[in-house]
Amino acid sequence: MPTVREIEQCLFALAPKAGAMDWDNVGQLLGDPERQVSRVCVALDITEAVADEAIAAGCELIVSHHPVMNCKWLPVQTVRSDTPQGHLLMKLLTNGVAAICMHTNLDTAKGGVNDRLTEVLKLIDPGPLPDDEAQLCRVGTLTGEMPLQEFAAYVCSALGSNGVRFSGCRPVHRVAVGGGACGDFQQLVIAAGCDTFVTSDLSYHDFLDAEWKGLNLIDAGHFPTEDPICETLVTYLTDQFPELFVFKSASHREVIQYIV
Ligand SMILES: [Zn+2]
Repeated sequence: MPTVREIEQCLFALAPKAGAMDWDNVGQLLGDPERQVSRVCVALDITEAVADEAIAAGCELIVSHHPVMNCKWLPVQTVRSDTPQGHLLMKLLTNGVAAICMHTNLDTAKGGVNDRLTEVLKLIDPGPLPDDEAQLCRVGTLTGEMPLQEFAAYVCSALGSNGVRFSGCRPVHRVAVGGGACGDFQQLVIAAGCDTFVTSDLSYHDFLDAEWKGLNLIDAGHFPTEDPICETLVTYLTDQFPELFVFKSASHREVIQYIV
């Protein structure tokens, strides 16, 4: 059976550490690197429910996209059972469950989060967003023009979103995608000649600005735009380590609901 360290090395072969943003925290973040692994749970986030699921399934390792600790929005100063994060970290450690997190290095990787998003949306000739130094976003086209409302409904269905928010009025043909919160890339998306940008976590002012600039914006949700990578990780790890039992978490899902 492979060790946690060997699985981490294998994941870095898919998503090299050098591709991570400098504020990020990727790789093995918890547990014993030499622990042998037989069962792996893959999830976008390590929530309390995911930890319970992995422990109940006898997993020695959880592989997640979002870091379980110490990245930009989740600093760790203490590990105490009377805080939500400390409670989670203690549960993982006391049950001997290691965590490997592949975050912005997996966003930027070839075959990573954003390439996967172009596949799910069936964009043609996908490639990097020009002048995107971070190499995060991707651009592709549709076979022909599609009315925005129809495309928004298509994105919602293809990603399994509970709902999408969108603005604009142009027909859709050249589409940029950025899984997760990529609203800051709007200017590059416009400069690249795209008419539409699919991403998440957009603000009221993002929508106002885009309307003024003539860009269609579609906010399809953070979870739905990134979750397709979990299947990729399951397939990749199963191919690399046929002796491992690797599965996608059944407990982690979109928590945001809409009334329309
Ligand atoms: Zn994300």
